[in-house]
Amino acid sequence: MHLSRLFQRSVRMYGERPALVTGRGEPLTYAGLDLRVRALARWLREDRGLIPGDRVVVAMKNQAAYSEALLALWTADLCPVPVNNKLHPREIAYVIENSGSRVCLSSGELLEQLSPVVTALPAVTLIDVQGPAWQAALSSPPLDPGLTGPLSRPDTRRVPDTSDTASAADGAGLAWLFYTSGTTGRPKGVMLTHANLVQMSLNFYADLLTIDDRDVLIHVAPMSHGGGLYGIPYLLRGGLQVVPASGGLDEAELFDLLGHYDKASLFAAPTIVMRMVDFARRHPPAADSSACPGLRCLLTGGAPFYVEDIKAAVRCLGPRIAQVYGQGESPMTITALSAERIGRAVADGDEDLLASVGFPQTTVEIEIVDGGGQAVGTGELGEVTVLSPTVMPGYWENPEASAQTLVGGRLRTGDVGLVDGRGLLHLRDRSKDVIISGGSNIYPREVEEAILRHPAVEECSVIGTPDPEWGEAVTAVVVTRAGHQVEPAALDAVCLESIARFKRPKHYLFRDQLPKNPTGKVLKTKLRDELAGRVAG
Ligand code: AMP
Repeated sequence: MHLSRLFQRSVRMYGERPALVTGRGEPLTYAGLDLRVRALARWLREDRGLIPGDRVVVAMKNQAAYSEALLALWTADLCPVPVNNKLHPREIAYVIENSGSRVCLSSGELLEQLSPVVTALPAVTLIDVQGPAWQAALSSPPLDPGLTGPLSRPDTRRVPDTSDTASAADGAGLAWLFYTSGTTGRPKGVMLTHANLVQMSLNFYADLLTIDDRDVLIHVAPMSHGGGLYGIPYLLRGGLQVVPASGGLDEAELFDLLGHYDKASLFAAPTIVMRMVDFARRHPPAADSSACPGLRCLLTGGAPFYVEDIKAAVRCLGPRIAQVYGQGESPMTITALSAERIGRAVADGDEDLLASVGFPQTTVEIEIVDGGGQAVGTGELGEVTVLSPTVMPGYWENPEASAQTLVGGRLRTGDVGLVDGRGLLHLRDRSKDVIISGGSNIYPREVEEAILRHPAVEECSVIGTPDPEWGEAVTAVVVTRAGHQVEPAALDAVCLESIARFKRPKHYLFRDQLPKNPTGKVLKTKLRDELAGRVAG
């Protein structure tokens, strides 16, 4: 099982079907894409001297060349290390060094910014995927299709133990080194194998969308993360990947593409979904299903999607919103709620389902455990642990972190949650975000859900701040909608409608925006650091 071999299957099955395109341009077919990636693969192996198992950092904005680079790396049996292009060049340099990569693929402004940092790393070459060498390589003689993928056993001095046994059949070779987004501390390299990503794709078909060669995926989210991972289920089933010409989210462009392509889906963080809703509301024809008939499914995940926001999104864009809960360590695959289920729950007023992250995906077993690692009962809170063929074999060259996170073959997610009587997983918060006030545990998410019921509130984040009397006090940082103001008393009132009195915030602070990391997660650590002294004082 190797992504390059499975891509060869797609080339045979879907040869003349469109595979990859920028905006509304002329697509490359599967056959055309295949010639290009095999040419690049040969160049990477023979001209650049890379050997199977070598890691290659991919640091660039969304573009068609991103998908080509991933395929070329797999075809040459190299391991892509996609990094978020919004990271600081020094952070990218850390990833290059930590992963032991000798090549970094980049382009445009980011390449210019990276250039001085990479020059300081003597063993590393920076390659411009829009530059002459790469372009010339695209038309060089392609690697023989029979030579793609795992040709030989990887050099065991260069790859971790888990890959020593890599074989074409079990898919144990590394396919993606995924650096955690690092809301705290240094990012760690999550090793994802070919088998992990194939299993992710099978779960995608089973629980979210079945795909055929008429399906389209529009890449608005960074291809270095979930957006790029979701390209794989499309490649394996003959779908078309569309990269917007803007390289990301431009709402007008996106709605235009949704008018142009049929059966189009996209993955976007909840904050991006809400930006689409906001745009559609301000441009009524865009929200009319006849104006974006092509939208099949908007897949969201990666951060809490609040009940009020889900309802607003479904009301605006129709029952076409699905949710996934996953983490780098089990990519895109822990639980899911399909668009049909969410649509039905909105119609039936099933808020309990909407407040959950759904059911375990098809090949996933979830167990909620207490501090001693013992399973707790239905409805009891604990840490979410996961047993699934999508779970990583470990962190790159970090046996301590691997041993702490993979216990008895289970992934310890660090997320706190409970499974209810229906089998739905309800996430509370990451254990470090739980607020302990006067000895009681308060989970920020339920306070956030309550505050978001106020119509003037656009976003909010709830954290614990030091408090001399209570240990920690509940503090809400609130962003109001443009042109709106709201008094703390009014927010207290909405809280008291749905949560216990002791959970309501002691402090409300109003901000123009919340600090977020490049994948759209609110940086609670940053908020806590900023506010610790201020609120206590
Ligand atoms: P990352 O590894 O950067 O993708 O981050 C994964 C973390 O994001 C998870 O452990 C959760 O804390 C959070 N997360 C992912 N999906 C969801 C979701 N649907 N709802 C709430 N939190 C989520």
